[in-house]
Amino acid sequence: KGPDPDLVAIAERMATVKHKILVLSGKGGVGKSTFSAQLSYALAAMDFQVGLLDIDICGPSIPKMLGLEGQDIHQSNLGWSPVYVESNLGVMSIGFMLPNPDEAVIWRGPRKNGLIKQFLKDVYWGDIDFLVVDAPPGTSDEHISIVQFLQATGIDGAIIVTTPQQVSLIDVRKEVNFCKKVGVPVLGVVENMSGLCQSLVDFRFIRGTGTGEQIDVTEKVLECMREKAPELLDLFAISEVFDSSGGGAAKMCTEMDVPFLGKVPLDPQLCKAAEEGRSCFVDQKCWVSAPALKSIVKNL
Ligand code: ADP
Repeated sequence: KGPDPDLVAIAERMATVKHKILVLSGKGGVGKSTFSAQLSYALAAMDFQVGLLDIDICGPSIPKMLGLEGQDIHQSNLGWSPVYVESNLGVMSIGFMLPNPDEAVIWRGPRKNGLIKQFLKDVYWGDIDFLVVDAPPGTSDEHISIVQFLQATGIDGAIIVTTPQQVSLIDVRKEVNFCKKVGVPVLGVVENMSGLCQSLVDFRFIRGTGTGEQIDVTEKVLECMREKAPELLDLFAISEVFDSSGGGAAKMCTEMDVPFLGKVPLDPQLCKAAEEGRSCFVDQKCWVSAPALKSIVKNL
């Protein structure tokens, strides 16, 4: 029996993709798609050629988060063309194929696997530096498929997004174990919605009103996001559950021997950027979350 022709076709397509990164989460609603979107924007802003592939077949949020709602995929003789946000940031999602955004995709595993295979086989990304793959929460058909289909070319690693609560962290452990079992390196864990920098909001409010002055708050934000930051409003009361250092995800990373990439605070402006399909790195609007996200991308 010869090699599987589909896997051969996928390997050929992936030959022009330098790095493949999987973004995972144990639970839904923790900010995985927000992170995938902003990671892609950050890499594109660093002048890399970036592809963002949404394999959250039943809940595709990527088109909206990239400001691409209502766009269509085009076919060329090279295959399916991604929808481009900028010349170096292309996106592919089932969201582009649905007749309307309210359409429910009620598919069993084999059909989902078929579409993922088709995405990998038929999308023409061209020469790109990074393919960021936004997976659905958990470890199910889609995860097994993507790992299996990319077996020959390999996946550089997975980033796992969580919130600080134990209920989310328990599922992160499962994601880490999934990665270990299937041989995908864990690039690290991001703790999102990690408290609220109340004092920074006040600081900006006092310093920023009326003056139009641009303040570089990067260091202040990073300081705030470090362990034991007194300014950090412990919204989820995690420091009561954990020890005085708080930091549920950081502690779990040490226990499981995987890198901790950093914290992203709750930031109403980041939520707004996601709703409006914008990058959080322009216009200094997301001035609380953007420096934290930037430092995570640098840590990769
Ligand atoms: P998931 O992909 O894990 O299901 P999403 O990325 O869709 O989660 O995020 C869920 C909601 O939370 C979205 O409305 C998003 O804009 C918002 N959100 C994510 N991260 C943050 C944050 N750090 N601060 C504020 N809102 C956030």
